[in-house]
Amino acid sequence: MMTEVVNAKELQKQDPVFGQLSFDDHEQIVFCNDKDTGLKAIIGIHNTVLGPALGGTRMWQYTSEWEALNDVLRLSRGMTYKSAITGLNLGGGKAVIIGDARTQKTPELMKRFGEFVHSLNGKYITAEDVGMETSDMDLVRTVTPYVTGISEEKGGAGNPSPITAYGVFMGMKAAAKHAFGSDVLEDRTVYVQGIGNVGEALVEHLSNEGARVFIADINQDRLAEVRDKYSVEIYGGNNLYGEEMDIYAPCALGATVNDITIDQLKAKVIAGAANNQLAEEQKHGKLLQEKGIVYAPDFLINAGGIINVYAELEDYGKKEIIRKTENIYNTTLEILKHADSNDITTHQAAFNIAQSRIDARKNEK
Ligand code: NAD
Repeated sequence: MMTEVVNAKELQKQDPVFGQLSFDDHEQIVFCNDKDTGLKAIIGIHNTVLGPALGGTRMWQYTSEWEALNDVLRLSRGMTYKSAITGLNLGGGKAVIIGDARTQKTPELMKRFGEFVHSLNGKYITAEDVGMETSDMDLVRTVTPYVTGISEEKGGAGNPSPITAYGVFMGMKAAAKHAFGSDVLEDRTVYVQGIGNVGEALVEHLSNEGARVFIADINQDRLAEVRDKYSVEIYGGNNLYGEEMDIYAPCALGATVNDITIDQLKAKVIAGAANNQLAEEQKHGKLLQEKGIVYAPDFLINAGGIINVYAELEDYGKKEIIRKTENIYNTTLEILKHADSNDITTHQAAFNIAQSRIDARKNEK
C-alpha cells in the first residue's frame, strides 16, 4: 500500500509504468491519443473485482506526462477503496486529460475521449472531476453509455458536489463525536480550505449549525462571494495550519497533510473533501495518530459523489442517495473506534475493511 507524492524529476528516474511509486497492481492503463482534436488522456483501471471501474475524468495542465500518470494512478487506486468502503459494487478507475480545461476543452475533444471510454466496453465508466462540468458528461453520453453524472434533464443524477459536501459534514460530525464526545458543531472553530463546489456547500451546513467558520481560497472573488452569503469570516493570514482551531477541512488539493503541516497543525480533527489528503498514507497517518489528531479518512467521508452517480446505474432515487450518504456518519464512527481499539491509524482501519471486502469477493469467484 504505497502512494507518495514525488516530484517530476524523481518520477523520471523510475520505470515508466510498473515501476512508478504510485503503481499498485493496477489492472490496466490506457493511453489515448488523437491528433485531430489534440486529445491526450490516460485512463487508469486499478481494480474491477467488485464491479466496473468508476471514477471521474480530470482535465488539468500537468507540468509533465509523468505528473499526469502519477495523478491518475493515485486517483484510480483511491476510487477502488472509496467504493469498497461505501459498500458499492464498483471497482476503481479514473481518467486524466492533459490540458487547460478553460482553453483546450472542445466538444470534439470530449466526444473523442468518450469514444476511447466506449472502446473499453464498460470496464471503465467515467464521471465528472476537476475541470469537467455536467454538460461535458452530456457530450460524452452522445457516444457512449459508459458515463455517469449526466444532467437531471437528460435523466442523470446531476451535480454530485452538494451530496459530497453532505457526506463530508456527516463524517466531520462523527469525527467530532469521537474527538470531543459530542457531534454538535455549534461554536466549534472550523477552517475550510477551498470553497469551490464542495467547500461552499459544506460551509452552508456548518454555518446553519452555528459553527465559527473561517474560509480560505486562492480565488479572492470566490471568498467575497461566499462570505456575503453565509455567516463566515475570511481567513486573512497566509498559513492557516498554525491557527487555533477545532477542525481543519481540506477541500481544495491533495497532500496538504504532510511533514511540514502536521508539525504546525493545532486542529483536533481533520475532515474534508479533498482526495489523497495524506502526502504519504502510512507515515502521515501514523504522525497524526501520535499527535492525537483524529483524521476522518478522505476516501470514506467524500464518497457522497460516487453514491450520487451510482444511483444512475442502480436506478435508485434521492431518498436512497441521502440514506446511503447519512450512513457515512455511522461508518466513520465505527472506523475511528476500530482504529483506537486496535492501535492502528484511522486510514489503515478504513483501508483494511475496504480490502477485506475486495478479498472476500475475489474468493467467491
Ligand atoms: P472545485 O474546483 O470546485 O473547488 C476547489 C477550490 O479550491 C477552488 O475554489 C480553488 O480556487 C480552491 N483552491 C485551489 N488551490 C487552493 C489552495 N492552494 N488553497 C486554497 N484554495 C485553493 O472542486 P470541488 O469539486 O469543490 O472539489 C474539491 C476537492 O474535493 C477536490 O480535491 C476534489 O477532487 C474532491 N472531491 C470532490 C467531489 C465532488 O463531488 N465534487 C467528490 C469527491 C472528492
